[in-house]
Amino acid sequence: MGIDLHAHSTASDGTESPAQVVHQAVAAGLTTLALTDHDTMHGWAEAARAARLSGIDLVPGIEISCARDGESIHLLGYLVDPENAALNEELAKARFSRVGRLEAMVARMVADGIPITYAQVLAQVPPGATPGRPHIADALVAAGVIEHRDEAFEDWLSNQSPYYVAHYAMDPVLAVQLVRGAGGVAVIAHPFTRSEDPVEQRTALIEQMAAAGMVGLEANHRDHAPQLREIAVSVATDLGLLVTGSSDYHGAGKLNRLGENVTEPVVLEQIEALATGVPVVRP
Ligand code: AMP
Ligand code: FE
Ligand code: FE
Ligand code: ZN
Repeated sequence: MGIDLHAHSTASDGTESPAQVVHQAVAAGLTTLALTDHDTMHGWAEAARAARLSGIDLVPGIEISCARDGESIHLLGYLVDPENAALNEELAKARFSRVGRLEAMVARMVADGIPITYAQVLAQVPPGATPGRPHIADALVAAGVIEHRDEAFEDWLSNQSPYYVAHYAMDPVLAVQLVRGAGGVAVIAHPFTRSEDPVEQRTALIEQMAAAGMVGLEANHRDHAPQLREIAVSVATDLGLLVTGSSDYHGAGKLNRLGENVTEPVVLEQIEALATGVPVVRP
């Protein structure tokens, strides 16, 4: 049983189409895959078709970009109703704000003499995709300025970079409420990564999110060193949260490989039992 509940496609900043991600999941020997693109459900239909044809279970999901006091938090929402108006309104707001934000970042880079244009960046955003910093990195790769996405994130695209511009991101507690309101199941993604917040502060936020109805925590993730996984599991135990593990696959955009971290079948059963938005897609 290989259950991987976090993967990206060209509907956001993954490099493979939703169908290709599904096929890669089959090739990796997974039995269940969740497609969780940033702030969009755009890839669901294609992934569902591919999953039905290739005999793998698909959990439709999203990864919502949230922010609290300038710190970025990612919330996974599984099995949400794709027609839910309140959720869709907030996601659309985030996607819209991401467009202007990329343009503003590129303007700052251009002003500093980095050889890139906004048109080159737009050419890297697949139709219908949620635009993100990785698309700036892809434009730099295509222009031969750098060799891999990672390089751009070391300085130019990092959160500490002078070129960094934030986009509209909802508060994590609102995101939990919206996921619940859409019949979905909320799980905080990689809660202890790339954070300036001390563990205690992040744990306090997780408590607030749990109080708002969040039911799980992604402890087993590449960005969590062994010690952070232990901390994450103990926080989950204290708060009665489910523990998940997943790859956060981005195709060629990141080193993360499908199935490198997985979720226990009993945890998926509980996620499924709690959801009323949309069912798991089964062949
Ligand atoms: P954004 O949502 O536009 O703020 O961009 C964040 C995204 O950048 C994340 O979802 C990751 O996919 C990607 N990212 C962050 N760090 C790196 C890295 N070191 N290498 C490649 N991609 C990264
Ligand atoms: Fe991403
Ligand atoms: Fe994330
Ligand atoms: Zn992700």
